[in-house]
Amino acid sequence: MSRRPTLLAVLAASSLALAACGGGDAANQTATSEADSANCPGDVLDVVVSVNQWGDIVQQLAGDCANVTTIINSTALDPHDYEPTTGDIASFEGADLVVVNGADYDHWASDAVANLDPEPAVVDAAEVAGVETEEHAEGEEHADEEHAEDEHADEDHDHEGHSHGGVNPHLWYSPEYVQETAQAITAELSTLSPDAADYFDERAQAFTEAVQPYDDELTTLEGLAAGRTYAATETVFDYTAAAIGLTDATPEGYRDAASNESDPAPSDIAAFEAALADGSIDVLVYNTQTEGSVPEQLRAAAESAGVPVVDVTESVPDGEDSFVDWQLTQLQSLADALGGGQ
Ligand SMILES: [Zn+2]
Repeated sequence: MSRRPTLLAVLAASSLALAACGGGDAANQTATSEADSANCPGDVLDVVVSVNQWGDIVQQLAGDCANVTTIINSTALDPHDYEPTTGDIASFEGADLVVVNGADYDHWASDAVANLDPEPAVVDAAEVAGVETEEHAEGEEHADEEHAEDEHADEDHDHEGHSHGGVNPHLWYSPEYVQETAQAITAELSTLSPDAADYFDERAQAFTEAVQPYDDELTTLEGLAAGRTYAATETVFDYTAAAIGLTDATPEGYRDAASNESDPAPSDIAAFEAALADGSIDVLVYNTQTEGSVPEQLRAAAESAGVPVVDVTESVPDGEDSFVDWQLTQLQSLADALGGGQ
């Protein structure tokens, strides 16, 4: 426990330094947290992570036994549209382990890994979670209206109806997938540096403890979310909403367009605005990291209708020290919006 604040402080400092002097190619603010080999009972590993949503989790799990390089470490860009620099690609060379989100969210990272010889070990969160990317469910029914209630009722059907172009890639918003991926990362770290296996077990235990306040807030939200609805400008928050039982009332045409990263039709936008105006939506979840005039228009419609807006992001913002702190801040603002805040 005593090492973690120091490690995070080092990361924050290096991130700031890169932002300040990195020049034009540092928009993604690639950051590396350094291992402390004196505290590692096994081999120190080089780990590269595509996005900071997973990067912070990897750092906590690897502790002093890995140098962790996180490629996208900023909310100033949209990871969905990210084009890697040659420097980003070079960052993967020599990695012992690469951690990617998968589900076509960061395919550039998987592509970079495929070109390496030898290929490093890879943890792909989408593979760990067992979500499909190549083909979406056949015979997909329009069960959208019910999906928030039956989410988690059946693992295989969790994601149908969410996204007609594939699975929802925002896996780090699923408390379950975060746990499963963390376990896979710990297992891979232990395989690569077996003398440190006990150390990694301790780190995993510490991570479980660190996540507890987030789990507690989810439990609180389950009480507040019962019978309540949300609409979202983007699918980023849907896994968390499903986990707490908040019903997705995003008009279907808009949601399908957002899931496919295509433009909603004017009628979809009109339907969304009408839903905000008629009181059928209790909260608007707004992804501040997705650019566009349509989300801004919907935000304005929510504000004029008196529907509270909860801001969420794809990536861990600069001001947050950890994945858990970031998630907690967002969950507390949702609790406020649902009338459960202090
Ligand atoms: Zn997204």
